[in-house]
Amino acid sequence: MSAEAEAVRCLLLAAYDARKRDLPWRGESDPYRIWVAEVMLQQTRVKTVVPYYRRWIRHFPSLEALAEAREEEVLLAWQGLGYYARARRLLAAAQVVRERYGGELPASAEELRRLPGVGDYTAGAVASMAFGEAVPAVDGNVKRVLARLFDLPDPGTAELRGLAGALVDPHRPGDFNQALMELGSTVCLPRSPLCPSCPLETLCLARGRGTVGERPARKGRPAVPGVEMAVVVAVAASVTGAAPEDGGHAGRPGEARETGASCGISFFLRKRRGTGLLAGMWEFPGVQVADAGRARGAALELVGELELDVLGPPVELDAVAHAFTHLKVRYRPFVLWVSGVGSDTEGRWLGPEELSRVPLPVAQERIAQAAIEVVRHGPQSL
Ligand code: SF4
Repeated sequence: MSAEAEAVRCLLLAAYDARKRDLPWRGESDPYRIWVAEVMLQQTRVKTVVPYYRRWIRHFPSLEALAEAREEEVLLAWQGLGYYARARRLLAAAQVVRERYGGELPASAEELRRLPGVGDYTAGAVASMAFGEAVPAVDGNVKRVLARLFDLPDPGTAELRGLAGALVDPHRPGDFNQALMELGSTVCLPRSPLCPSCPLETLCLARGRGTVGERPARKGRPAVPGVEMAVVVAVAASVTGAAPEDGGHAGRPGEARETGASCGISFFLRKRRGTGLLAGMWEFPGVQVADAGRARGAALELVGELELDVLGPPVELDAVAHAFTHLKVRYRPFVLWVSGVGSDTEGRWLGPEELSRVPLPVAQERIAQAAIEVVRHGPQSL
């Protein structure tokens, strides 16, 4: 293996040096910034991450700045990137680093792994790139490259980590890990790998044996269930719009606005509690329904439960579909003009401007945009 490993390092690093992409975190020496980039890149394309990374670093330029941030600010900076648990864990880990390590990220993969949300991959990536520790960083791209390079039909994670650990360059571990990941994301593609352009073509066992298309073996994915949600977009005129970060109250229809909204309307939203999916984000009240035909009735029922008086017929917006990893949701929003404060003390009345200052999941943001359009210009804009 050592002669083989030498050959892989030599070919891969030469190609990386010649062709690596210019990315904002490349050449970065601040461990905090490397860590942020690595967390953002999990399950997310490089192109998507770049603007988020830049914006994040402007908001939270240091670990100290992140550790002092409120969860809502952090979620807002992450809004649209998905998998929001990553943002909450980044915040939690930054607070642990501030308290236990004096604000400096620990310098070994073993210690990094003890931080909230830091697994083998992130620990390996940060330790190798920021601290020069010769440890592997095995993500999905690296798994695919190794399965093909060694022609392994169904390798386990431990086996792949062992191989990656034996290959990693002891002198340039960070560059080596990035080179392997980059090869997987730009050349050794899942469906149509660009073997003639690959620096490892002459060493690749699957290429030599003609098994590239079968490596790694494809596993059938379990079907993702789908659900329908009726969504209540309650809108009221001239509601006090104290933003939640001001510690404001739920607001009362009929009062003059104190902040924000240019057209004197407010929408009723709630913050998701707990630690589960989308925790800490804001959303319009909703309820799951058995099928789309029941959505209108369910929306009206929910408005009643919120003790809001409906002033006109519901206007149905286009359905908004969103696929989570484990669930596909089709939101069926209904705009309803209402009066009354509402019984839900967890909720807030937010004007259009305020909506842009609270973290909203992508689907809720789309509902909000469509609702603002309809309220301002009427249902003919549908
Ligand atoms: S030769 Fe093809 S299959 Fe082998 S590592 Fe390169 S791109 Fe992947």
